[in-house]
Amino acid sequence: MEGIVDSHVHVSLLPFEGLESMSLAGVRKMIGCSLFFGAKHAETLFDHFHQMLTLSVSNASQNGIKLFVAVGIHPMGTPEDWPRVIDALPSYLEMKDVIGLGEIGLHEGNRREQDVLREQLKVAKECGATVIIHIPPQRRTEITGKTIEIAAAIGMEPGKMIIDHAGLDIIDLIDDFGAIPGLTIRQDGLTPHLLLNHLERFRRGVLNSDYSNLKPCDPLSVPRTVRYLELNGGSPEIIARIARYNAEEFLGI
Ligand SMILES: [Zn+2]
Repeated sequence: MEGIVDSHVHVSLLPFEGLESMSLAGVRKMIGCSLFFGAKHAETLFDHFHQMLTLSVSNASQNGIKLFVAVGIHPMGTPEDWPRVIDALPSYLEMKDVIGLGEIGLHEGNRREQDVLREQLKVAKECGATVIIHIPPQRRTEITGKTIEIAAAIGMEPGKMIIDHAGLDIIDLIDDFGAIPGLTIRQDGLTPHLLLNHLERFRRGVLNSDYSNLKPCDPLSVPRTVRYLELNGGSPEIIARIARYNAEEFLGI
């Protein structure tokens, strides 16, 4: 299909050739999400954001891909002086190519992670920004519930949130809250086969690769999934929605 959108890519970890392969497979827009594993200082994240907004935007453009960037503090890379990053986020949200905050959220779910998430959601709410939320591989229903509880407590608009790495275990929680499910395709999570068998339940979602170097990853997981769904009788209308139009409408891109 035309104009695939990959809604969650840790683009600073993606080689130039990865962008080329994605372009050849039909990806035309992507969301670059922040993640600097083990960041110790606010400046580390500022440099990370800067690199995405310069080098990564340029490399994507050279491959015919429009890159939009989400900035924020990932729970696996929260600096000691994280409040300094919070203070800077509103100015980033005014920059060209920045479409929101992400990837943010709870990984272990401890008090500090909850504080960092809450402060970022407050910024998003005040700025009217969209957010991309991480759900970890373990204690998923509990962490999803806690995330929703924090968002609801500060009055965050559910329709401004992508809750990512959705699966059958949490799709009802996400739908009931009114957020957009992020559909990360990988071997140990939502597979193309599982998605095909439950396509209707995931029809509000946005496909992504969540490409990073944290675990085995496939930068082509979105186009491969589109092809698998197309060849195995998936509804063309739903395929187009989850691979392109839901993300374009939700993010205004
Ligand atoms: Zn991610």
